[in-house]
Amino acid sequence: MKKLFYIDYPQERFEGHTHRYRCALCKEETTKINGTLEGHLPSCQYRIDLEKAGFEPGQVVAHVELNTSDEVD
Ligand SMILES: [Zn+2]
Repeated sequence: MKKLFYIDYPQERFEGHTHRYRCALCKEETTKINGTLEGHLPSCQYRIDLEKAGFEPGQVVAHVELNTSDEVD
């Protein structure tokens, strides 16, 4: 079971930085996490919970095809 992006983790803003955010749990910056599970620290509760739920780190496709018109419903 895989998700394309892992972005539903709790985030908090860097103090004094309007446009910088980090994971509220492991404190890794969102630009470093980059939507991937392995971007979180191994000790991050969000990552642990997802891995426990069967999600796999390391196999996430990092780009999205924006012009896919051949999707079948
Ligand atoms: Zn985290």
